[in-house]
Amino acid sequence: MPSLNSESLSSFHWMANMVESVEVGLVVLDLDFRVQMWNGFMEHHSGMTASKVHNQVLFELFPDIPRAWLSSKVEAVTQLNTRAFTSWEQRPYLLRFRNTRPITGTEEFMYQNLTISPLCGPSGKVEKVCLMIYDVTDIASNKRALERANDQLAKLSMIDRLTGLLNRGTWENLLDAEFSRYRRYGSNSTLVMFDIDHFKAINDRFGHLVGDEVIRHTAATTRSHLRHSDSAGRYGGEEFGIILPETDTEGALTICKRILNAISREPVTVDSHNITYTISIGVAPLTDRPKNYMAWLEQADQAMYSAKQAGRNQIVTFS
Ligand code: GH3
Ligand code: MG
Ligand code: MG
Repeated sequence: MPSLNSESLSSFHWMANMVESVEVGLVVLDLDFRVQMWNGFMEHHSGMTASKVHNQVLFELFPDIPRAWLSSKVEAVTQLNTRAFTSWEQRPYLLRFRNTRPITGTEEFMYQNLTISPLCGPSGKVEKVCLMIYDVTDIASNKRALERANDQLAKLSMIDRLTGLLNRGTWENLLDAEFSRYRRYGSNSTLVMFDIDHFKAINDRFGHLVGDEVIRHTAATTRSHLRHSDSAGRYGGEEFGIILPETDTEGALTICKRILNAISREPVTVDSHNITYTISIGVAPLTDRPKNYMAWLEQADQAMYSAKQAGRNQIVTFS
């Protein structure tokens, strides 16, 4: 029946064409991981022709492939005669190919999903496996961009927009945590509250926007004098709080003097106005006395109030 033969030959021919040109990587391996088939997608992205890789062991062609991992996957596929699947989220790629997508050109490499299929011989025994490698860079890139945006949002909602310091809610949570830490483990911890002196006058004289710049400058100066472990927050309009863990009164006073002096000595220039201003600081080292973090805050606030009463531009420690 010659016509059937030529028909099946032609259908084989166009099937082979399809396999060659499909936008999925197709690799057939024997059970020793020798390459038996390598389609056009693989040639294009690896830069290696099918004739070059034929009968070569995959791990020798690509030494970076996690050998133990792929071997155990392939073993499961051959023994159970079922397909196995891994997504880019578990493992970003099997073979590191350059990302060639124009729209997601920001990604360094091609993200891949991988399916491993068993291929049976006439006896029904699994003789080979087929790796199908899908380019999912677009999906991965979108998902990663979304995750980054969400992280950014979470961060923004913790941060005071004007100053970049922690906002009140976040800072108070940290203060609460620091209070509990002290209750459990002891060790020093000091709380600092401060407020800009006669800030209403600055607003009245130069306007609210200039006032904002003064608040921003106060935050930046404060931040520049702190260590990584210290937490500064904007507590209210022109009122700030600093948690100094592992710091005794003496250490806290050293830091506070530096901030106080840095602010009072150098005028800040906003819209060509040179504005000289001061702050008043209250310091409260943590003891066994306060019942909760709010009582601790109250102590620092009282000390700050005393600093205002005593003439401003000074530091008072709660006693
Ligand atoms: P004192 O020395 O007693 O602290 O005097 P003060 O004038 O600073 O008094 P107070 O702390 O009570 O006033 C703070 C003023 O800060 C009141 C409010 O109009 C202003 N303010 C609060 N938040 C902001 C803000 O975000 N930007 C600006 N420009 N002004 C603010
Ligand atoms: Mg004030
Ligand atoms: Mg105030």
